[in-house]
Amino acid sequence: MAIRITGGAIHDPANGTDGDVRDLCLDGGKVVAEVAPDARRIDARGMVVMPGGVDIHAHIAGPKVNLARRLSPEAREPQDRTEILRSGSAGLVPSTFTTGYRYSLLGYTTVVEAAAPPLAARHVLAELRDTPLIDKAFLILMGNNQVLFELIREGTGLRDAIAWWLEATGGYGVKLVNPGGVELWKQSNGRISSLDEHIAGFDVTPRQVIEAIGTAVHELGLPHPVHVHANNLGVPGNASTTLDTMRTLDGRQAHFAHLQFHAYGGKPDGLPRSRAPELIDHLKAHPELTADVGQVMFGPATTMTADAQISAVLRDLGADKWLNHDTEVETGCGIVPFTYKEKSYVHALQWGIGLELFLLGDPWQVMLSTDHPNGGSFLSYPKLIRLLMDRAFREDQLERANQKAIRRTMLLDALDREYSLNEIAILTRAAPARRLGLVDKGHLGVGADADVTIYHDRPDREEMFATPRYVIKAGELVVEDGELRTTPDGTLLSAAAAFDADVTSTLEPLFGDRYTVRFANYPVRDPALREPARVVQA
Ligand SMILES: [Zn+2]
Repeated sequence: MAIRITGGAIHDPANGTDGDVRDLCLDGGKVVAEVAPDARRIDARGMVVMPGGVDIHAHIAGPKVNLARRLSPEAREPQDRTEILRSGSAGLVPSTFTTGYRYSLLGYTTVVEAAAPPLAARHVLAELRDTPLIDKAFLILMGNNQVLFELIREGTGLRDAIAWWLEATGGYGVKLVNPGGVELWKQSNGRISSLDEHIAGFDVTPRQVIEAIGTAVHELGLPHPVHVHANNLGVPGNASTTLDTMRTLDGRQAHFAHLQFHAYGGKPDGLPRSRAPELIDHLKAHPELTADVGQVMFGPATTMTADAQISAVLRDLGADKWLNHDTEVETGCGIVPFTYKEKSYVHALQWGIGLELFLLGDPWQVMLSTDHPNGGSFLSYPKLIRLLMDRAFREDQLERANQKAIRRTMLLDALDREYSLNEIAILTRAAPARRLGLVDKGHLGVGADADVTIYHDRPDREEMFATPRYVIKAGELVVEDGELRTTPDGTLLSAAAAFDADVTSTLEPLFGDRYTVRFANYPVRDPALREPARVVQA
């Protein structure tokens, strides 16, 4: 259906448009230059028009998400069936259908599941296929895979193996979670003191894993660079590990996930402090690096991660219930329900560090995330946007938080920045789309996907971003006045790079030695799971 959106203020920073009032035409699922006079008209006078939101880092599908749903049945809220909606559950970890509904109601049209064990690709794909309305991609975990350790030690076949793994799973990119560290933790039950510790039995170090995989992804030219959850998450003093990891990847493209959780000074046995300014300085000197923040929001959260080590730490802080799980020879997994309290020194510091990263950073480089649901639900994005746009609101919230922690950040000094609408459009759309290599997303130029969100221009930015007036997905009007009108499937986004098919003769015996799954049964071939997909070629 052709649509002409008339009279809205267009915020399309990727094309240098900052609130210009003009019409926007959509046809055939794309932004077009002109439509026929009988096209449907949407009157957007007095409204703000942006590309659909793009979430570069969230956890929405696969075994850990499903286990978290089962772990906290009391945290579920009912999503009732209607004429067009399926029943399900909302709350911190929504069910599949509800995840699609709620993202869409917020004006988001593309979401990346940031940590999928490749061994569980079938499960991840099945859940993503069941998640309507949004386009979706998933990153496969490669930082603690024993077969890859063997290839890294031998210095051969890694690039081909990574490309094979993407082809075998339908994944979009490569994720490192505590690279080498989960395996080391299984061996030694503690934090790592340096990236140069030897992983027993494999004769490789975390630094070699980071360097080898980062280089291979860079050389393959995948649309999204290596996506790094650095070692020592949550540990006081871990900013040194983060900077060391950044330097190890020097000169190569890389994205650092939830940087807030990796920005701490202090001693491992003491209270943390902020080293956010140093990390921002490093990013500014290294345009090849980007990050998302992983903002903590006060209130309930669910920590879920492939970093089984940090889950064990959270468990020991007094969790009512927890789950820790080993994914064969590939990765780990831990889940702990958690509440961030504004009067807690540590939680207020985490909250403050997240805001420092946003307020000191360049929105093209430092993107919005809560690491949903680790720092809080994606449903808190409108409140987070208000914290960035509305200084008076931020100061009010600052006063409620633990003052000892807030005084140890820069927030009380000169950080009076207020984000503009265009800057919000950058860190929630243009920058993540560009970083994901999704050339048709995150902007409104001719040829872009017709994913568009239209907001009332309300002074209360939280209310504004929580209740878009219209959401258009692939040219179809899906949300009107806070209600879903239709629930089309989104598209699976996969990435592919050419590889030497002979790599299977290297991998098959290594699989035979280690996996419980036969090599021939590992790749996902089921067309119902794999198709349709939009495959982005390296
Ligand atoms: Zn995450």
